[in-house]
Amino acid sequence: MTAETLTNWARNITYTAKELQRPHSVDALRALVAGGEKVRVLGSGHSFNEIAEPGPEGTLLSLAGLPPVMEVDTAARTVRVGGGVRYAELARAVHAHGLALHNMASLPHISVAGSVATGTHGSGDANGPLAAAVREVELVTADGTTLALGRGDDRFGGAVTSLGALGVVTALILDLEPAFEVRQRVYGQLPLAGLDFAAVSAAAYSVSLFTRWRHSGFDQAWVKGRADRPVPDFPWAVPAAEAMHPVPGMPAENCTEQFGVPGPWHERLPHFRAEFTPSSGEELQSEYLLPREHAGAALRELDAIRDAVAPVLQVCEVRTVAADEQWLSPSYGRDTVALHFTWLADTAAVLPVVRRVEEALAPFAARPHWGKVFTASATVLRELYPRLADFRALAKELDPAGKFRNAFVRDVLGD
Ligand SMILES: Cc1cc2nc3c(=O)[nH]c(=O)nc-3n(C[C@H](O)[C@H](O)[C@H](O)COP(=O)(O)OP(=O)(O)OC[C@H]3O[C@@H](n4cnc5c(N)ncnc54)[C@H](O)[C@@H]3O)c2cc1C
Repeated sequence: MTAETLTNWARNITYTAKELQRPHSVDALRALVAGGEKVRVLGSGHSFNEIAEPGPEGTLLSLAGLPPVMEVDTAARTVRVGGGVRYAELARAVHAHGLALHNMASLPHISVAGSVATGTHGSGDANGPLAAAVREVELVTADGTTLALGRGDDRFGGAVTSLGALGVVTALILDLEPAFEVRQRVYGQLPLAGLDFAAVSAAAYSVSLFTRWRHSGFDQAWVKGRADRPVPDFPWAVPAAEAMHPVPGMPAENCTEQFGVPGPWHERLPHFRAEFTPSSGEELQSEYLLPREHAGAALRELDAIRDAVAPVLQVCEVRTVAADEQWLSPSYGRDTVALHFTWLADTAAVLPVVRRVEEALAPFAARPHWGKVFTASATVLRELYPRLADFRALAKELDPAGKFRNAFVRDVLGD
């Protein structure tokens, strides 16, 4: 199989790998890894940069042909999920057992292993990134052998949000909790002036604010409250009169149910319905995660450059993420506010604005999302990640010849 015309979901990256392999068993995968020179896994391809690219001499491995393992242990409240499985199918399987994941990203069509590898997150003051649910990782390392790293192992802090640099993740064991229902309500018109960000983000289990930066404030607030807790009070904005898409004017039928209609966690926590599968997207994305106490100041900095940002922006989303302990997690060691940008699909026009945003957010030690467009250099990243050297040592230990080390990872590690 050739990888010649294989692109990521947004089609801004064409993979140059010499081949795409799709093994149907873990044994076949182990043989491919052991025999390969440069290897990277392609998850569901929803990243916007070259993180998955192995280079022209390399092999891309798709795990979509492996059996879709989803073993729920109701007594232990865990699920063992295969390396190619996506959140949409996992969520349905888990819910069928009366159990839930703590959170989901905006889109359920992304792979679990690819998501936790890049620090993907949803929203909620008390909700860690999706990787926070992982209790064990099963890897095929560079020589084709298997290795399980679990919580309690000294190396676990590097094992989950690993940028695909340690080996092929063939399975993950995730913590679950009892299933819960969520009511989602959308509000409009939330001004930036006088915004008490801490109060707004604490109002419900998950809060997302959206703006196109055409004015000084937010067009929408998506407020997701657990049905087993008191109905969130949201006095700062006006309830929406009709179902909304995060980008005003776009059709809302692909969005999850609103108006406070209670429904299962996995049909409310993402913004987009699992039944709607966008095969590709006309957009680019960037995101920066910074200490939550700087949320107000950072938003004011963005407001000050909104004339530069708005012309290439589809929508900006502001969420919160609880601190976690993965060394390369953008929310490592700090409760976080995440400032996300969905840009127009125009790299040349977007990149200068990305740099402006990075300059504006630099005083807040903003860490870029690993799966999105950013320009930060290795020198900058080294200062942002206090455990980067530990991760580099772990990558050298598990992959001494650098089989999984592509140009993206070399840049990040400053090799
Ligand atoms: C429409 C859209 C919405 C999004 N919403 C959110 C959001 O709400 N929150 C958020 O934080 N991010 C979001 N993202 C970003 C997305 O979650 C990340 O880019 C994520 O990595 C996507 O997973 P993937 O499997 O598609 O990754 P890919 O791009 O396929 O891979 C990402 C990395 O993971 C590695 N990898 C994948 N599978 C394995 C494996 N089995 N073993 C080893 N390495 C592996 C790859 O080699 C690569 O390095 C969104 C992206 C899109 C396009």
